[in-house]
Amino acid sequence: MREDFPIFERKIGGKKLIYFDSASTTQKPKEVIDAVASFYKTANSNVHRGLYFLSREATEIFEATREKIRKFISAEEAREIVFVRGTTEAINLVATTFGKKFVKRGDEILISEMEHHSNIVPWQMVCQDRGAKLKIIPVTDSRELNLQEAEKLITKKTKLVAITHVSNVLGTINPVKEITKLAHKKRVPVLVDGAQAVGHIKVDVRDLDCDFYAFSGHKMYGSTGIGVLFGKKEWLEKLPPYQGGGEMIKQVTFEKTTYNDLPYKFEAGTPDIAGVVGLGAAIDYVTKVGADPIQRHEKELLKYGQEALSSIGGVKIFGRTRNKTGIISFILERVHPHDVGTFLDGEGIAIRTGHHCCQPLMERLGVVGTCRISFGIYNTKQEIDKLKTALLKARDFFHGTN
Ligand code: PMP
Repeated sequence: MREDFPIFERKIGGKKLIYFDSASTTQKPKEVIDAVASFYKTANSNVHRGLYFLSREATEIFEATREKIRKFISAEEAREIVFVRGTTEAINLVATTFGKKFVKRGDEILISEMEHHSNIVPWQMVCQDRGAKLKIIPVTDSRELNLQEAEKLITKKTKLVAITHVSNVLGTINPVKEITKLAHKKRVPVLVDGAQAVGHIKVDVRDLDCDFYAFSGHKMYGSTGIGVLFGKKEWLEKLPPYQGGGEMIKQVTFEKTTYNDLPYKFEAGTPDIAGVVGLGAAIDYVTKVGADPIQRHEKELLKYGQEALSSIGGVKIFGRTRNKTGIISFILERVHPHDVGTFLDGEGIAIRTGHHCCQPLMERLGVVGTCRISFGIYNTKQEIDKLKTALLKARDFFHGTN
């Protein structure tokens, strides 16, 4: 599979690139790059607007991809799939429109302590705007969501629960189906941040029964700038439009505008058509490789990686739950994560360091930041061996035994 990714032909400082930052963005297979290039070379035109052949063709590809995504996440209808820029925009769309329509003074929005800033700040903004309160599901010492607390925190005041499917720091896979059940018992809708789940584990929104599901194309081997908001049609129909402009209207006069049907009501302006084409190619690619082999490969790398890192004295790993994706957060004692990252960069190894847009979780873990390695389908055990060697070198360098 590694050969499917042209970027690995590159050398960094004369060394083969070792890329351990797929949670940030995955590398792109040739299929995706070619699909985007081919769209611009042979089919470029705007969608839903032109009567001419090229525009009809672009529209057909665009809508066929919407259907492909519906199938990929097992949504009921294609009109429940809204194209957005990414997870962040999807969450902002729901927070803004849901907040405007349903959140009042004294209401509560429930999120968790392991959320990415993208699933904190939009809700905080809504709460500030509407006089509502943000409530937090705590993380246990084993770095899982505290379900008993979650159940208690869902009350008559709760208007919506927003939680991440997979933590981008810990890799923990959260029991979102169970949480959705708890919330639905009290008639509370649930939004799931699927940024770290789609493309790594099988996602079935009908089985999860969540009301909204957000994800980004670029974290599942597609291009940047494109993402998806799934929303149950009953909810999407109730929400007001997010942005105004072309495409989201039926009729405009200076006195009044009527809005378009789903999903177009939420797709103002020209979308990232090439991005949609690339996302379709990414889904084809992930489907071809297969959800099970992908998960198996990541699990194997996770086990191997955790063992390798644990064997290095002075390395502390955060989050060792059994139900995890291929993400490992760690620190090298007495060394700032950025120093570790810079050292590894010198060895041609790309890892992410810092707070990972999860400052409240860092506070919970009692650290300023962590080093994070995250796997894609192109990573190998040999790369982990090289990481281990480089980390031993880093430890000697920073701890002064060299
Ligand atoms: N949620 C989680 C859990 C993430 O890991 C990320 C990206 N790091 C986001 C949301 C935001 O995704 P994007 O930047 O693609 O909008």
